[in-house]
Amino acid sequence: FWSNVEMGPPDPILGVTEAFKRDSNPKKINLGVGAYRSDEGKPFVLESVKKADEMILKEKLDKEYAPISGIAEFCQASAKLAFGDDSNVIKNQTNATVQGISGTGSLRIGAAFLAKWFQGNKTIWLPNPSWGNHTPIMKHAGLDVKAYRYYDSKTIGFDFKGAIEDINNIPENSIILFHACAHNPTGVDPQNDQWNELSSVVKKRNLLVFMDMAYQGFASGNIDQDAYAVRQFVKDNHNILLAQSYAKNMGLYGERVGALSVVCNDKEEVDRVMSQLKIIIRPMYSNPPIGGARIAAKILTNPDLRQLWLKEVKQMADRIITMRKQLVSNLNKAGSQKNWQHITNQIGMFCFTGLNAQQVERLTKEFSIYLTKDGRISMAGITSKNNEYLANAMHECTK
Ligand code: PMP
Repeated sequence: FWSNVEMGPPDPILGVTEAFKRDSNPKKINLGVGAYRSDEGKPFVLESVKKADEMILKEKLDKEYAPISGIAEFCQASAKLAFGDDSNVIKNQTNATVQGISGTGSLRIGAAFLAKWFQGNKTIWLPNPSWGNHTPIMKHAGLDVKAYRYYDSKTIGFDFKGAIEDINNIPENSIILFHACAHNPTGVDPQNDQWNELSSVVKKRNLLVFMDMAYQGFASGNIDQDAYAVRQFVKDNHNILLAQSYAKNMGLYGERVGALSVVCNDKEEVDRVMSQLKIIIRPMYSNPPIGGARIAAKILTNPDLRQLWLKEVKQMADRIITMRKQLVSNLNKAGSQKNWQHITNQIGMFCFTGLNAQQVERLTKEFSIYLTKDGRISMAGITSKNNEYLANAMHECTK
């Protein structure tokens, strides 16, 4: 039957982990995949998650199906976390929110909704570069994909001028995607005043905004600060789509917990949109898994657990920020004359080092340090023990 099936390429990020596993060098470091690690380099289960788990176990809940749109309490708490308690969206209940299979699944439902119902130009404009899975997700749903300038390789920073110029030329009534915070893969985010201007240019072009928020709280350590772009766009009356993920900020990677919200004009519109979101979800997977969403809902709605969680999110963000500072200081100590300021300017899980493909190859071959060819490193893979080794290696390869 399958003689026609061609061998596909390995996933560029998961392939890095496979190569890492094969390496026997005790000093090896995996900076490929974006999953948080403790300062001992170990996967980290949040205390708030363990406590929520215990409380849920005691409740002896049944294992019946969730509704097609997921656990209602989770959806409501999730929308509140993103938009803020005092948002008009929350007060007027103009959000159509469904539970999704983490960020990926939420993006996929949103893309399918746009492909079927968006009346404008069914092209989605992504930042260049963007998370590697964005293009396949959007294309799989039937949208065309184009890109606007975002990253400036000369400054290793945000190309604000280029982005504004490109967005000004996007055909009216198209779709544009933004990473709400902690842009992956670059770690480069617009400043708040730049977000304000992006919002007004987007309004002028009458673009529909799809916000991908996979790292709320993980960038700055503060959930409200990281939601700035989402809340500003909503204040500016953009009826955005929003995909949320709890993989990183609750460490619920494998639980696959996320949400998709479509901001509507009024409650009547919410009802119509909700009905269509359910029609999209039903033939894909019927209804979402209950375990992770129960945990997230418990953390978001129990005041003590929520406080504990907020502290833990900040701890994770702070550890990453500390690793950034130490890496720059170790690079200087190693004698590097290069300007590494972008490492501390960037935020979130990832750092775009500015290393080119050859330098990356040397890091891997000579030092057993594994990362993607674009020079992106996952900051979460750095610990106070391997930081100096990494800095010395980076200096060697960039002399
Ligand atoms: N969007 C972005 C920008 C991401 O970096 C990620 C995680 N790598 C996701 C969405 C979705 O991840 P998940 O499906 O694990 O929530």
